[in-house]
Amino acid sequence: MDADQKICYRHDYHMHTAYGDGEDSVDAMVAAAKESGCSEIAITEHLSPFFAGLSGQAGRKIGGMTMMPEDAEIYLDEISAAEQRYQLQVLKGFELTYFEFDEDPSRRLIERLKPDILLLAVHNLELLLGWERPGKGGNPGRVDSKGHSVYLGGDSLDELERQYGGIKNLCAAYFRRLHDAVDFGAGLGGEGICSDVGIAHLVVFEHHPQFNMWIPPSLIDYAVGHIAKSGLALEVNFAKMGKGGCTQPRPSFEAAARYLSKGGRRLQFASDAHSVEDLKRASVHFPMFQEFFKGVEAPLEIK
Ligand SMILES: [Zn+2]
Ligand SMILES: [Zn+2]
Repeated sequence: MDADQKICYRHDYHMHTAYGDGEDSVDAMVAAAKESGCSEIAITEHLSPFFAGLSGQAGRKIGGMTMMPEDAEIYLDEISAAEQRYQLQVLKGFELTYFEFDEDPSRRLIERLKPDILLLAVHNLELLLGWERPGKGGNPGRVDSKGHSVYLGGDSLDELERQYGGIKNLCAAYFRRLHDAVDFGAGLGGEGICSDVGIAHLVVFEHHPQFNMWIPPSLIDYAVGHIAKSGLALEVNFAKMGKGGCTQPRPSFEAAARYLSKGGRRLQFASDAHSVEDLKRASVHFPMFQEFFKGVEAPLEIK
């Protein structure tokens, strides 16, 4: 490893609060992180100008998941207050749901809110189940019959496959979207809008183990190489670890190691905790994370 490459142990750069789809307050999450021995964390609430436009109601979470941009300032203030109270380094973050048609509004919002850290997440593909892209006349687009967009982590694999005409097409669509997200993130860095951008839960299909098994290693390899070359961080997401027989984080340890071998500069732990309980459970994964990368040559950032 080079001197400027970092693996961040005992830090946690992905968690949610009641501002989004989490259960607990900012204050409670920071207190719990301090208690579980984290030395630095980021709070990363869901943000999406596109979904905000669909909801149109200030003060209401969108689909029960994404915070309203109008709430962002008070959210950021709460993070600052908790940081002071618990004397723990807390980065102000967002997890931005990436859509390529939403790049300009996203860039403007990030420029205004100035987060310390930004996670880019491909949660949705838009060309599914009656979804239409926003029209020129400001038409906000249409979501599926259940009133939400097709969520890659939750909807039926059979249905997704059918819509895409096969698993290969679905997979290709995901990686294409991811590629665009990486380029967008690199642009934010290049333009000085946000210097700390990472990719969240590479390969989002957590409910579809058979899908994850199918993805060709060459695609993963290409994706981690692109993230590394673009100077973006890569998170290793432990949200599903130990649940339903899941024995690997997302992406896998091996894929994370390939990111490092391709010159990736920052590998970060992510609990993706949605509650204080999740955070407590997540701390058992710190040693697992550390153990896997033991063989990787120093220098490492070990905290
Ligand atoms: Zn996510
Ligand atoms: Zn998340």
